[in-house]
Amino acid sequence: MIGHIAPLRTYLGRVGTRVQSRMVHHKVTIIGSGPAAHTAAIYLARAEMKPTLYEGMMANGVAAGGQLTTTTEIENFPGFPEALTGSELMERMRQQSARFGTNIVTETISKVDLSSKPFKLWVEFSEDADPVTTDAIILATGASAKRMSLPGEETYWQKGISACAVCDGAVPIFRNKPLAVIGGGDSACEEAEFLTKYGSKVYILVRKDHFRASVIMQRRIEKNSKIIILFNTVALEAKGNGKLLDVLRIKNTKTGVENDLEVNGLFYAIGHNPATEIVNGQVDKQETGYIKTVPGSSLTSVPGFFAAGDVQDSRYRQAVTSAGSGCIAALDAERYLSTQE
Ligand code: FAD
Ligand code: NDP
Repeated sequence: MIGHIAPLRTYLGRVGTRVQSRMVHHKVTIIGSGPAAHTAAIYLARAEMKPTLYEGMMANGVAAGGQLTTTTEIENFPGFPEALTGSELMERMRQQSARFGTNIVTETISKVDLSSKPFKLWVEFSEDADPVTTDAIILATGASAKRMSLPGEETYWQKGISACAVCDGAVPIFRNKPLAVIGGGDSACEEAEFLTKYGSKVYILVRKDHFRASVIMQRRIEKNSKIIILFNTVALEAKGNGKLLDVLRIKNTKTGVENDLEVNGLFYAIGHNPATEIVNGQVDKQETGYIKTVPGSSLTSVPGFFAAGDVQDSRYRQAVTSAGSGCIAALDAERYLSTQE
């Protein structure tokens, strides 16, 4: 299985600045590389704020460009009546950031100190070096796929179990084999539909008696004869021959009946964790870990530290809403910096 290697190759055909010199100071730093980060960069660069954007090197296991690099066609981003792939969309956003002079650094930020001004930042593998300092930060680190910790998951991870159908669905072990997707949201529907290209049939296990997914996605999978929807169904254990997965033990939560479902592939689509670890204990968060922002703005509990995109949005989590919040963060940061001069 190939993990996120393919999107990494397509999106990172080019690499931004990689060398860190000592005592570097940025007026405004953007951490992240999805639609929120690049929209913030475009606005700040056009406003001549000379933003620096750390796009990450497989940060949280996702290629620079963010979650959209793990998907196929994007049909709902305005301005593209002919769908384009997520990687293409992100490459275009990156080019637009660069065109207006954003300093794009292909490094992951591993540590942030918000306790005094200027803020301090450290890049991964250089934590002993002098920190980079900055007057303002926009955190746009997004989110990453959740895992279930099922018995057998460790044994069969990447040997039948994956959290990315688009990355892994095409590998030979899944061709013409029964597959399963766990989850009831848009990702689960999209992944199940995608997997019908490869699998003989695709079960979708929904723990409740209804989907969380949008109606259009539900209708699409209901019409697909290769998809079998199992409501009120949870997974109990992943089993196999020690090398590859071939059975998923499942349970109907209404009847209590347990069964072995013969599947050679299991794909998790159960949501995401916001990537907020680098600011743990330094800024207010929601119970779910998302950064708390003042409604209608990107303002956090720390002046000069702004949050945009999925990292602060547990509700909408769309490319276009992330881009919109990146714009808001850029305007908030610009206003903040103008009051500091
Ligand atoms: P993300 O896209 O999550 O990107 C953040 C990126 O920043 C990370 O991936 C990483 O590369 C980088 N990063 C993280 N931490 C660091 C760090 N410490 N240092 C440096 N860099 C870091 N939305 C739609 O509107 N339409 C769709 O069709 C659609 N399809 C989707 C399909 C899938 C499979 C998934 C998972 C999501 C989909 N979404 C879709 C949702 C959409 O991808 C997200 O809402 C959007 O990408 C969030 O953007 P973001 O800018 O907040 O961050
Ligand atoms: P969601 O959080 O929307 O859905 C997660 C699903 O997984 C829910 O049905 C949830 O069940 C279920 N789940 C969570 N934990 C478990 C568990 N331990 N066991 C079984 N099931 C579990 O995440 P998505 O990744 O689907 O979507 C994230 C965002 O990305 C959304 O805003 C979505 O609209 C967007 N997106 C948009 C697409 C598009 O527009 N084409 C495509 C893909 C994603 P329950 O409902 O019971 O809580």
